[in-house]
Amino acid sequence: MKYCSACATPVVFSIPDGDNMPRYHCPACKAIHYQNPRLITGTLPVLEGRILLCKRNIEPRWGYWTLPGGFMENGETLQEGAARETWEEACNAPDLGQMLTIINLPEFNQVHVFYLAHMTSPEFSPTPESLEVRLFAVEDIPWDELAFRTVSATLRHYVEHRDQGSIPLLETTIMPRNAVR
Ligand code: ZN
Repeated sequence: MKYCSACATPVVFSIPDGDNMPRYHCPACKAIHYQNPRLITGTLPVLEGRILLCKRNIEPRWGYWTLPGGFMENGETLQEGAARETWEEACNAPDLGQMLTIINLPEFNQVHVFYLAHMTSPEFSPTPESLEVRLFAVEDIPWDELAFRTVSATLRHYVEHRDQGSIPLLETTIMPRNAVR
């Protein structure tokens, strides 16, 4: 951020009076421009035991397989966002079920949430956001060509628990690859 969105004065990045973290703030109108983590919401759509994956037609990770998902919009719920993203990426409107995973990504200032989704129609198609959309049997999941670690973690969690009566909610944190933990 370079300029104040309220008055266009160049902003300063420092700890504002009375705060405890550095922030962009405006020396002229005193507006503080808070930046907070973003929510990514998505689905794991299932039809007769097979899982719907989308090959990304957008960066980052163009050409890699992902579960449908994306940034939540203002004014919608997590479920509405997950359903909208599934439609935008796969042209399918499944029934949303339980939340499967909630994954903190402090490295990227994001939280990713995925819902199990039951496909009520076998119809789906590529969209401007997806090169290809396919149903995969569990044994055919392209583990080495998945776009994001949250997608791998969500698929792994589902595959491990899908034959049990219920699937527990996985709440976890993915640390930076080079972090010592
Ligand atoms: Zn200002």
